Amino acid sequence: MTIHSSYAINTLLDKHQSRNQNQHKFALANLTNKQKLKLKSPIKDVSKRLNEIKDEFDPYHIIFHPSLRLVDHFSSRIVFHSPDSSSDKALFDHSSKLNLAFEKTQKSSSDIAIISDGSVKAVGSATAVAHIWKDNKVIAKLKAYTNNITSMEAELMAIQIGLTSAFKNTEAHQILVITDALEAGKKIISSGDQHLQKSIIPIAEKIQSFLSKDSHNSIHFWHCPNKLEWPRHSLVDTETKASHIPPSFPEKNSFLFSKKKECDLILESWQQSFKDSKKKGQLFLEFEDDNEKVIKPMYTKGGSWLLHIGISNSVCVRFTRMMLGHAPIGEYQQRFFPNSPIHCPCGEADVEMREHIFMQCKRYDTSLHPRDICISSFIEFIIGNPTSFCFDNS
Ligand SMILES: [Zn+2]
Repeated sequence: MTIHSSYAINTLLDKHQSRNQNQHKFALANLTNKQKLKLKSPIKDVSKRLNEIKDEFDPYHIIFHPSLRLVDHFSSRIVFHSPDSSSDKALFDHSSKLNLAFEKTQKSSSDIAIISDGSVKAVGSATAVAHIWKDNKVIAKLKAYTNNITSMEAELMAIQIGLTSAFKNTEAHQILVITDALEAGKKIISSGDQHLQKSIIPIAEKIQSFLSKDSHNSIHFWHCPNKLEWPRHSLVDTETKASHIPPSFPEKNSFLFSKKKECDLILESWQQSFKDSKKKGQLFLEFEDDNEKVIKPMYTKGGSWLLHIGISNSVCVRFTRMMLGHAPIGEYQQRFFPNSPIHCPCGEADVEMREHIFMQCKRYDTSLHPRDICISSFIEFIIGNPTSFCFDNS
């Protein structure tokens, strides 16, 4: 990681730009991920070998000992502020409180506010920016660059450069850290993430020293999500995204970055095999999410479909039967039990198909007929029609 002042940043930028101008246009650092996938070269193998995972483990460091952790001693003076919910009203209330807290620090000669943001690009470069506010003006703008880390680690890096600078002000008693990644701040304090131990230790020690030297000293972390559009944070966000430097070669990966890359690759192959495979069944129905994107398999947030279905067992089982075409309806009987009746009991369909049930059948509430292929429309139909796709005795 490199940390520098504005002057040093410009010098470093010049050096990087000049270095990149001198690079061959097909240098590894200039290739997109797609181009790298197609490339077969010994250089690529060397890069892969050199890009090992950084050594980030230090579990025996004293800062991680039970009873000596930051959270054990200073939990009352390290405070996290976040909105109660993501509702518009909760965000508005939170924004008002953030404004008041920020203005208070700027009126006090012993308070400092840090506004931080981190960003990563697909090519692997990461940038962290922190603005230090005191007496209603920005007294320092800090930037740090590195490669092959996750966005959460970039946010953590931004908080670290901000706090490191703020601690140099010996008169500071209260420090506000305004970030769109409160989780990153929590990771420093809890020291619980083994994959970040070595990067957390230096800043955790500085926090310990700051809080130990005066019982009035405190640190307040304020969550400032992008949708709050808080102007001072938006400025930092814009600066972060505009400040990327192409990654240099070779560069080691952080453990979390390697893990994410591996997960992305697995997910990609999973989705591709799901797309190509006939194993999901000929009658498998594809749906779109609320953003009109076709739903693909994923493993986060409870999976792709369950997330929309909710917690009702009845809705879940009837939706699954309907989606797979394995439901007690004429269309299914026709395939597996051809001697059974296949017509719809309403008398208006020779074969009781799913389309008939959703769009025409008078046995169901017509006001709930899906008008698009959005999954929520179908779930709404199934919830509103409790006998749909249901066995008589279920
Ligand atoms: Zn019918």
